[in-house]
Amino acid sequence: MSSARTPYQRFIKNLKSTMDMLKLSPAEKKLFLEPQHSHEKTITMTMDDGKNKSFPAFRVQYNNARGPYKGGIRYHPLADKDEVMALAALMAIKTAVVGIPMGGAKGGIQCDPKVLSKRELQELSRAYVRAFQEHLGPDIDIPAPDVNTTPAIMAWMRDEYEKRTGTYAPAMITGKPLSYDGSRGRDTATARGGFFILQELIEGEALDSKNLRVVVQGFGNAGAVMAHFLHDAGYTVVAVSDSHGGIYSPDGIDPVRIEKYKNKTGTVAGEYCRGSVCDTQKMKMDGIRQVSNEELLELPCDILIPAALDNVITEKNAKNIKAKIILELANGPTSPEADEILQKRKIKVIPDVLANAGGVTVSYFEWTQGRSGEQWTDAHVDAELKRVILTAYKDVRREVHRDKVSYRQAAFIVGVRRIVEAMRVRGWVE
Ligand code: GLU
Repeated sequence: MSSARTPYQRFIKNLKSTMDMLKLSPAEKKLFLEPQHSHEKTITMTMDDGKNKSFPAFRVQYNNARGPYKGGIRYHPLADKDEVMALAALMAIKTAVVGIPMGGAKGGIQCDPKVLSKRELQELSRAYVRAFQEHLGPDIDIPAPDVNTTPAIMAWMRDEYEKRTGTYAPAMITGKPLSYDGSRGRDTATARGGFFILQELIEGEALDSKNLRVVVQGFGNAGAVMAHFLHDAGYTVVAVSDSHGGIYSPDGIDPVRIEKYKNKTGTVAGEYCRGSVCDTQKMKMDGIRQVSNEELLELPCDILIPAALDNVITEKNAKNIKAKIILELANGPTSPEADEILQKRKIKVIPDVLANAGGVTVSYFEWTQGRSGEQWTDAHVDAELKRVILTAYKDVRREVHRDKVSYRQAAFIVGVRRIVEAMRVRGWVE
């Protein structure tokens, strides 16, 4: 069995080696190997054309030993129970690694949001809340955005929840718009957290951002914001991509320009190409080459940042990766087999449960603001995020040096140990 593994099987492979290292008892292992609750519903709604359509929907609550369940909801044609389960489990580890008092959960709707009208999207989002309402709440399970879900969707969900329960519940969901009790800095938090870690890492290795070339896969909330941070800090962003493919320039790409064309045309290559028809003359003049998402991962660079979907670095391409550092802004981009190859090749992989934990960290700040009625400033959010994420990074790094393990193994050790401690305190296990 290799890359044919499912997302959950890939998670379990990492988890099992951690549980063995920590010498967990059979009872403790059992509590870890399955989610506490896995809810599944079919949402049926009337589409704009008057026909009824059904969508499978999920909410997996993996573990709440350390606090209420927490995690996003993704809208994707391939979202299924197995994937949502893996993502929920990763959330439990992630919240423990950054030491915020929350557990792990994830939701999903199997749909293609790109073909839905605004009305359909709103109805589907409200129907999701109605389907899982009894399992949600500020002290129970707090959703947030994930792939293809936005602050506007969070606003509809909160409104639906408040209407149904007759309560005022700004803390029932995070990632809300600023004008509707969202938190400052939440929109840039995932990239910001990863950026703080990267800066700390390169300083520790006495590297200079001016000499570092970076490839970013994905130009959504995480990837695009990260490209801006890197560019502003003097790194050379040599390639970016979206689901249609990418562009590469050894001399560097200006993310501001890319974003402008992406907004106008829908793709990062929009300045040069319409579909598969490209202005090759202009590309040549600007030193730009079109690359596929697969090619992009193998480009010459110092730092590779997967910021899109899972399982893109596998045993097939791990040996061809040129980067010396991989920072996982996406969830689950590296398969366990690829991880082994990268470790042997001494490539540092900063794992998702640490690298992209800035998002859930600021979600936690948003939740505390929702409960207290406070409003934090940008500077306060930024300073707190930096403190939390760099503390987590140092906790993980300590484990890397002590146990001579990879950053992923170290992060899992830190996270699983904290969850087990909470389970013991609660008396779930001896
Ligand atoms: N979906 C994000 C993640 O995977 C954020 C979750 C949250 O803010 O609760 O970490």
